[in-house]
Amino acid sequence: MEMKKHLLAKGTRFETSYFVIHGKSKGKTMMITAGVHGNEIASILAAERLVGLLEKNRLRIEKGTLIVVPLVNRQAYKLRIRGNPDLNRTFPRSDKDKASHRLSVELFQLAKQYRPSWYVDLHEANGLSNINPQRLGQTLIADPKSAAIPAIKRIVAHLNRPIVQKSRRFTVRLQNLLGSGRHAAYHLLKANAVTVETCWSLPMSTRVSFQMKILNDILAEANLINTKA
Ligand SMILES: [Zn+2]
Repeated sequence: MEMKKHLLAKGTRFETSYFVIHGKSKGKTMMITAGVHGNEIASILAAERLVGLLEKNRLRIEKGTLIVVPLVNRQAYKLRIRGNPDLNRTFPRSDKDKASHRLSVELFQLAKQYRPSWYVDLHEANGLSNINPQRLGQTLIADPKSAAIPAIKRIVAHLNRPIVQKSRRFTVRLQNLLGSGRHAAYHLLKANAVTVETCWSLPMSTRVSFQMKILNDILAEANLINTKA
């Protein structure tokens, strides 16, 4: 396994690190982003923990390539705000459209360079989707015709099995969100694009742990790692 650190938006006030990890053998490419919204802390902590595990060799990418951008919007994170404008509405909406924020321009360029077959964007949201279907907390989201749907249904089933409190169980949500990183990766790069949303009102350690489990399952689904935890 080979891991290298790089800088996105280098030399600008948006500069942030990303990591490229190559497995021992060829396989699929996955891109993981967190901190597109600066106040969704558990997703950022999970992405940073993932990078830490990889650095310490406690998690190994066996096949393929993983790209991790653990904290996309540092400016928003400093202020613990979602970000203004909302970065997740600034990605290209069609093949004629262009990203309209320095960070979405650079992120989408990185995605175009690697052409990931999986694009995983980590977020957090209000509410519990299993209690209130209007809410996005505890969901995995894909576009309605996404090839990722069977995999995310399997992941949600696996995730929910040990969850005793029904309210905390995850649901699958299918929606188009124009301008989002997920939609751009799905629509323009034909990636299996997934948004992960944990619920803000749960304890931080629970949210980070859910995010980690989901990452582990997605990495296993794409065969970048060997086993499901
Ligand atoms: Zn978000």
